[in-house]
Amino acid sequence: MPGILYLVATPIGNLEDITLRALRILKEVDLVAAEDTRHSRKLFNHYDIRTPLTSYHQHNESEKGEQLLVQLHEGKQIALVSDAGTPAISDPGYLLVARCRREGITVNSVPGPSAGVAALAVSGLPVERFAFEGFLPPRSKGRCETLRTLAQEKRTLIFYEAPHRLLATLSDLRQELGDEREVVVARELTKLHEEIFCGRADAAAEHFSAGRVRGEIVLLVAPARDEAPEEEPIEMLQRLRREGELSRKEMTRQVAKCFSLPGSDVYRLSLDLDAEEEGAG
Ligand code: SAM
Repeated sequence: MPGILYLVATPIGNLEDITLRALRILKEVDLVAAEDTRHSRKLFNHYDIRTPLTSYHQHNESEKGEQLLVQLHEGKQIALVSDAGTPAISDPGYLLVARCRREGITVNSVPGPSAGVAALAVSGLPVERFAFEGFLPPRSKGRCETLRTLAQEKRTLIFYEAPHRLLATLSDLRQELGDEREVVVARELTKLHEEIFCGRADAAAEHFSAGRVRGEIVLLVAPARDEAPEEEPIEMLQRLRREGELSRKEMTRQVAKCFSLPGSDVYRLSLDLDAEEEGAG
């Protein structure tokens, strides 16, 4: 029987943010593959986890992945952890998970924190629909190009950002999305110096230019607003009547949908317009 690969989420700052199941799995598996074994050792020492650790990171991902696959095929139970949060999310893991799926090895989720979702939940920005964009390109040209393609996005945008790039990114964001776009900068979540800045892009740039930006950062951007409609409901109704191609029912339906109005109100408005016209005639 092949073994199981467990994707185990670990804290993004506060060591208490780990599930009971994660602790049990980390203690029970044969091996833990960690992005940085020295980093994970601190967590292991804190919770008295003695499972052997092996390194699995960006630079040995494919060759180490092969070795882990062999061990999984031999029946070993392996947990994958990253330095913080959920493995495979802007962290190593995807290649190994994809191979396991192709080769019939079970991959189990041991869910927990992920910085992007944690930041979204406390941001106060719309949460019904969001787009996770990971890290923006490090250079301004690429960053601006990416931001331009996202300028009209109607979902809340989530980016991971390095502290030394925050000001440059905010400057590019103001250029491509405008000074008025609402942003949230979630810094050092779950840690002593947690800070959630909410405000316009220009205010964020001013706030963070006061001193050196430190810590880990999630940058969230409010969805693009719908363009202001060019006409009022009554103007749209008048135009449709002038064009004379639609029935009253269809005109009512279209105007009501366009302005999210009750159909009965629009219907009454169209009757008022008729009455006005008759009175004028
Ligand atoms: N896999 C991780 C997850 O699920 O959140 C993300 C790994 S990614 C390499 C690291 C980035 O996540 C940081 O550069 C930062 O943008 C964000 N991040 C991690 N911990 C954070 C925290 N405590 N507060 C704010 N952002 C954090």
